Amino acid sequence: MAASKPASPPPGTAGRERSTLLEVHELKKHYHSLGEEVRAVDGVSFDLQAGEMLAIHGPSGSGKSTLLMTVAGFIRPEGGRVLYRGQQIAALSERERCSYLSREVGFIHQSIHLMAHVKVVENAALYLVLDGMSLREATAAAIPWLERVGLGQRLSHRPEQLSGGERQRVAIARVLARGPRLILADEPTGNLDSVRSAEVIELLSSIAREQGAGVLLVTHDLEAAAIADRRMVLRDGRLLEAADQVQARGLLSGERDGAHRR
Ligand code: ADP
Repeated sequence: MAASKPASPPPGTAGRERSTLLEVHELKKHYHSLGEEVRAVDGVSFDLQAGEMLAIHGPSGSGKSTLLMTVAGFIRPEGGRVLYRGQQIAALSERERCSYLSREVGFIHQSIHLMAHVKVVENAALYLVLDGMSLREATAAAIPWLERVGLGQRLSHRPEQLSGGERQRVAIARVLARGPRLILADEPTGNLDSVRSAEVIELLSSIAREQGAGVLLVTHDLEAAAIADRRMVLRDGRLLEAADQVQARGLLSGERDGAHRR
């Protein structure tokens, strides 16, 4: 599916692209556990444009991780379709799916997993090295990304010398250096205070616009979701439009954990 690309173009040079990156139609994933059916994702439809950040906001147990893993192709849905640039993910061969995951998709998680005894620049170069690039080439490609996320002065620091927000920015640079067009962010601000959290989401949003990448953010953090270009609310595996934060807050107030069990 995707052409091989050795590293992302340097920040700011990719140009804007406005096109539909992701189309999700009536997606369903149900689990069967201890005699119960859990409708973790229950007929979800949305699209994501290149250059756009869409936040899907929901409490724990609402189906966010299942949705993200299904979009990534790790979980096969029971019903519905996920199309990436017009191509159905479930129809890809094993090899094409690996290519989709390694070339097109970048994951940003709450848990950052930097290598403690390795410099920031080498941490940021890690995925490029794993892709087969020499360490020298990979660090050269990673440096502009570290500069873009505001860590140009921290290249030789070790992760323990950085704040939580800075460590998350290294993790973002590490993902972006690979040049993903689809960024899947699963609670990326879960370990950050509200100021750092806003900085990280604003950074992702501006990079999406600059690079023409799409960011699908799933989070329980209403303030983080508010920064996205568009927001939807996931509740009991079902997606609701959230025109604004007041509406989202109303939808979520008084809600308890857990997806629909039948
Ligand atoms: P979130 O990411 O919003 O916390 P999840 O997608 O992890 O939600 O889970 C949605 C629902 O599906 C929850 O009720 C959860 O307990 C259930 N669930 C998730 N994974 C499994 C599984 N492998 N087997 C059974 N139930 C699961």
